[in-house]
Amino acid sequence: MTPWQKSDWRARPRVQMPDYTDAAALTAVEAQLAKYPPLVFAGEARNLTAKLGQAAQGKAFLLQGGDCAESFAEFSADTIRDTFKVLLQMAIVLTWGAKVPVIKVGRMAGQFAKPRSAPTETMNGVELPSYRGDIINGFDFTPEARIPDPARMLQAYTQAAASLNLLRAFSKGGFADIHRVHAWTLGFLERDEAEKYRDMANRISDTLAFMTAAGVNGETMNGLSTVDFFTSHEALLLEYEEALTRVDSTSGNWIAGSGHMIWIGDRTRQVDGAHVAFCQGVMNPIGLKCGPSMAEDDLKILIEKLNPKNVPGRLTLISRFGAGKVGDHLPRLIKVVREMGAEVLWVCDPMHGNTIKSPSGFKTRPFDAVLCEVQEFFAVHKAEGTIPGGVHFEMTGKDVTECTGGVRAVTDEDLSSRYHTACDPRLNASQALELAFLVAEELSA
Ligand code: PEP
Ligand code: MN
Repeated sequence: MTPWQKSDWRARPRVQMPDYTDAAALTAVEAQLAKYPPLVFAGEARNLTAKLGQAAQGKAFLLQGGDCAESFAEFSADTIRDTFKVLLQMAIVLTWGAKVPVIKVGRMAGQFAKPRSAPTETMNGVELPSYRGDIINGFDFTPEARIPDPARMLQAYTQAAASLNLLRAFSKGGFADIHRVHAWTLGFLERDEAEKYRDMANRISDTLAFMTAAGVNGETMNGLSTVDFFTSHEALLLEYEEALTRVDSTSGNWIAGSGHMIWIGDRTRQVDGAHVAFCQGVMNPIGLKCGPSMAEDDLKILIEKLNPKNVPGRLTLISRFGAGKVGDHLPRLIKVVREMGAEVLWVCDPMHGNTIKSPSGFKTRPFDAVLCEVQEFFAVHKAEGTIPGGVHFEMTGKDVTECTGGVRAVTDEDLSSRYHTACDPRLNASQALELAFLVAEELSA
């Protein structure tokens, strides 16, 4: 068999990728990107794989979250800081619930390309190509903006590099100190509506106070004042991914240098398709979205292709069936995995199966449906004797009004006030933290 090449995907059928009209401009951008430094390194990807392998055994828990689509217009230090901050707050609460380390992975620093349910969008009788994420075309509803422009890949790379630089500084520079992060959570709980979570938060406070008294602090103990933080995104735009794929000099393996973990979307997981062909050959941990249409036979082939050596932590199955449907689908997929003796990490994405159109016309997700899918995910794993190893959320640190519900009750009428997402509706900071408390209850049950 000829060894895997980073360009192998080009010979496979591709879906959800743009047709660039200017081939010369595309080639020039690819050549430029190929010269730029990778954003992540092989040792980091190996480290993350090992941690995910722990999560698959119930010895760690994955928290993956961030924007549906990062945007060029919304890019700022504050946006990154706010999302990072909420992820850390959630991680402390989940650590408390799970009593195991929480692996923190952002949908950040590279989450730019979007699969769409239709190739075109119509507004007021005008039909234009769909928006496919800032790395591909523009959000404005004009014919010019919607033309795929390869130069956008360079801007995405620059934004990803700057984001990752900031995240690395936040992770190691004192910002992530556990006492400080927990103090933010206590601030959130001062509001009356959040009272029901105060008991768990107080117990965390007591534990932290005890640790300090016992001399366990950032100086004596790793992980109290710094964190390991990883990045992830959907590996959708394969020209970009290929250009950033490099050989790791220590192992001789290929690494996608665009982010620590990459995943294959529910719409691009065709067994003989381009996206699977690309992800097969890189050493990064790979996520695979599993929606209701995932057939058992396909899952079997995908597991064989994506994790032929059955390495723990290499493959994460991210289920996203929708509330009320987990019981119809998760058991049949667990059966495939069990029969194969496959090592996988099971993670729940309760967002993508729960998108509805609100009466006011906005794409939204009811908080209760999101919670319900998580609870069904835990219940099925309990019944099957398998391990619910993590959660995957679309969320932001900003106070947006995109998903309805939560203790601070965003209503249908509120959606128009701060609906800022470039793609799918995200949990706001309060909803995300509240969900962490509710998942922590499941974990400690
Ligand atoms: C996403 O994660 O933004 C996404 C499009 O998910 P899925 O492929 O599961 O629909
Ligand atoms: Mn999405």
